[in-house]
Amino acid sequence: DWLNVTRFDVASVVRELSEVLGKTFQREIRVHTDGHSVQMKGDKDKIRQLLLILIDNAIKYSKEPIDVRIRPHKNGIKLEVTDYGIGVPESEIPYMFERFYRVDEARNRSTGGSGLGLSIAKKIVDIHEGNVEVYSKPGNGTTISIQLPRKI
Ligand code: ATP
Repeated sequence: DWLNVTRFDVASVVRELSEVLGKTFQREIRVHTDGHSVQMKGDKDKIRQLLLILIDNAIKYSKEPIDVRIRPHKNGIKLEVTDYGIGVPESEIPYMFERFYRVDEARNRSTGGSGLGLSIAKKIVDIHEGNVEVYSKPGNGTTISIQLPRKI
């Protein structure tokens, strides 16, 4: 994959994106950062796309406010997108990052996704040598937690 690596402030990427998506979809997106800036080295456009996919899913699969957290973590950063929506059954979590996979077609038909978003998100995490964890409970909501090395 072709990467355009720079050093940038992830917190400001998250704030800009949350503002645009919040206004566009008329949803409350709360951004929590430890301090003002969280620096990392990576492909800024791809990290923005990753955040867009996660926040877009949180919007589609919940009705409440969404919480986005960014903080320094070990030798890198941690990004977490939390929603209080329909959640994902535990048995489906291993498959949700597969291409075209959608949990329960019927339940999802109205949101009209392609099932590609998370497979792209996973790819972006992989090329940054990061990893993904999912915490979810049907009816309570979902947290997608991404760790990325800072690489400075
Ligand atoms: P799109 O490609 O447009 O994003 P999609 O949302 O269907 O469509 P993915 O982003 O790949 O596709 O997500 C795969 C499946 O994982 C979704 O269809 C949905 O069932 C489930 N999922 C993803 N994020 C969430 C979430 N925040 N809450 C509940 N289910 C989710």
